[in-house]
Amino acid sequence: MDWMKEVLARKEDLIKDTQEFLRIRSILDKETASKEAPFGKGINEALEFLLQKGSSEGFISKNLDGYAGHIELGTGQDIIGILCHVDVVPEGDGWTSGPFDADLREGRIYARGAMDDKGPTMAAYYAMKIVSESGLPLQKKVRMIIGTDEESDWQCVDHYFKHEQMPLMGFAPDADFPIIYAEKGIIDAELHYTPSESTSTQEGIIVTEFHSGERYNMVPDKAFAALSGNLNSDEIQSSYSAFLKKHNLKGDYAEKEGTAKLMLTGKSAHAMEPNNGINAGLYLAAFLKDLKLNSGAKGYFSSLTDFFFGDSRGKAVSIASKDEVSGELTLNAGILRYTEKAASAGINIRYPVTADGADIKEGLQQIPGFLLHSLSDSKPHYVNQDHELISTLQRVYTEQTGETAELISIGGGTYARSLEAGVAFGPLFPGREDVAHQKDEYIIVDDLLKATAIYAQAIYELAK
Ligand SMILES: [Zn+2]
Repeated sequence: MDWMKEVLARKEDLIKDTQEFLRIRSILDKETASKEAPFGKGINEALEFLLQKGSSEGFISKNLDGYAGHIELGTGQDIIGILCHVDVVPEGDGWTSGPFDADLREGRIYARGAMDDKGPTMAAYYAMKIVSESGLPLQKKVRMIIGTDEESDWQCVDHYFKHEQMPLMGFAPDADFPIIYAEKGIIDAELHYTPSESTSTQEGIIVTEFHSGERYNMVPDKAFAALSGNLNSDEIQSSYSAFLKKHNLKGDYAEKEGTAKLMLTGKSAHAMEPNNGINAGLYLAAFLKDLKLNSGAKGYFSSLTDFFFGDSRGKAVSIASKDEVSGELTLNAGILRYTEKAASAGINIRYPVTADGADIKEGLQQIPGFLLHSLSDSKPHYVNQDHELISTLQRVYTEQTGETAELISIGGGTYARSLEAGVAFGPLFPGREDVAHQKDEYIIVDDLLKATAIYAQAIYELAK
């Protein structure tokens, strides 16, 4: 079977259908949400577009209450799943052509969703169509599972798998080629600072406000503090500028009517590797802790510094771990807040696939001075490299591209983690610019065709 030849025979239709699909503005829209369309009109239109296309071309289509759907080929007990999504992130500004024009130029289709995930979704659909039209016998059922809120809360897959069978194995064309086979566990935790009352005194400088960061999964690049009370402004200002100079950081100091305002600029980075950033909040905390603060503030900023400053591996809070597949645990202090009434730290932890989230939770409960207020845990996701899914997809990828299919382990989470035995498989080829969620998002037509051939052979080899 020459899979690429089959794709090229359908090239014009594939491009045309991809463009038509991309022209649907499938952004989450609560204004137009209804019982049948829980995420709004645009997303529902995109879901229906695919399902109707499927049923009109001989597949079995099913809509699960507007949350998700599937397009099915073949019979058999076991299911091979291909997990895609039709929702896209908002278009943003600065596009060269309209974000929903699906303009074809220089061999690329430009549109929001071209890479993430409507382009590869259409590639996977055509792959199923090619397998179906080949007439080759299959032993397993093939299901393209279509989610509708991957870009927000993943209610789609929750709803879907409450009602439908989990595939025996499968892949999600929603990240990178060759194959992402290991994704760390992800914990978000909110810790509340709880000083012991007996030592509390109101003498010293008052920190009326301190905040840094908005998101668990980003290293905060800005921090702010306001101080009042018994200030020696000149002394604070000169020690602050010495501190900034020593650490090669940028910041500002201003004093007005008895209130000192301190700003510090760090460097933002994704929580997958906090060492790529400079945590503005932790640096400002490290400066503040040495001032003559009142005891509540002193305790908070000292604890933040002791447990989190300069330590992105969870060593100081005794939760560090690592393994061969996924490397070290990482910890990011993403949201830091202090007022005289309440103080907290929001942290994001990425833990190795062989580590246990329950152990980490226990560790977080033991941090002196902090109370674990809330925690969410998305378990690690890992398919053993000896699994038939991996060996099959590796062989297919190599046959179609001539390249070896290296296995990738990441600190992030992909859609594949909602499958029991699933990997992320494309659509972004190694060395290509990652334009998902950016302005002028595009898919290279040649890559769209190549991905379709890879998916077609993969579906056949897994289901035969
Ligand atoms: Zn996606």
